[in-house]
Amino acid sequence: MIDGLPPLREVIAAHDLRAKKSFGQNFLLDLTLTARIARAAGDLTEADVFEVGPGPGGLTRALLAGGARRVLAVEKDRRCLPALAQIAGHWPGRLQVVEGDALAIDPRAHLRPPIKVVANLPYNIGTELLIRWMTPPAWPPFWQSLTLMFQREVAERITARPGTRAYGRLALMVQWRADPRIVLTLPPEAFTPAPRVSSAVVHITALPAPRFPADPRILERVTAAAFNQRRKMLRAALRTLAPDIEHHLRAAAIPPTARAEEIGLEAFCALARSLAAPRA
Ligand code: SAM
Repeated sequence: MIDGLPPLREVIAAHDLRAKKSFGQNFLLDLTLTARIARAAGDLTEADVFEVGPGPGGLTRALLAGGARRVLAVEKDRRCLPALAQIAGHWPGRLQVVEGDALAIDPRAHLRPPIKVVANLPYNIGTELLIRWMTPPAWPPFWQSLTLMFQREVAERITARPGTRAYGRLALMVQWRADPRIVLTLPPEAFTPAPRVSSAVVHITALPAPRFPADPRILERVTAAAFNQRRKMLRAALRTLAPDIEHHLRAAAIPPTARAEEIGLEAFCALARSLAAPRA
């Protein structure tokens, strides 16, 4: 027992929190497991934590027991609020629960840096939130690290290396400005109800600056075009970006006959820089 509060199965029975598919609810009821996820987020004692979708509060409890300075938890399903209020009462002044849509809330209005994001995300908004957190108007972002549960297949796309099938836009977007690592993989049975696929927790730490210089909009255009036609040679896949694309590919030391999958982040950034520069 991590905190003297009732076991999660009792909490769920007491508040009739039967999981609903429409909310993307797959709960973690094993507090040893939620404690492992909280630990994967690193030292919490000097950080505020933003949690998306606390549900009955298994991960929330682990974050608080793990010493988080403050936790802001945003939950869309109002049925969970009484259970979360009980946790807030147990840890006075440290848990703020907001009922609402995580996509509509700015955590900076409630939390003090450094801010860590930790969540067992609803799968239907997981990728959208990740993309949003990875593409703020200015870098560094509001968060110091993201510790997030994804479907395993998505976690593998985030951490993928060149030359693999999972490698693509998501890997490049995340790895350009952050270090992602899979820290835990979980079978479907770890959740109630069990989803169809395995899951994985990814820990992502923000770099102070992008790994290589590039204009984010141009880099995104290049990787979108390259991977939308990933089987094509780059000189064909990127033809719409510039009439003299072969010149830019050579300037970036990329063979025009290469395919997107073979090209690393540094070369994509060099290509974005070449496309941004007016040709002498
Ligand atoms: N954190 C809990 C756990 O680990 O057991 C619940 C995880 S469950 C996969 C996802 C949670 O996110 C649910 O409680 C669901 O109601 C909530 N949720 C779904 N969509 C949301 C949204 N747009 N904003 C905030 N919470 C959302």
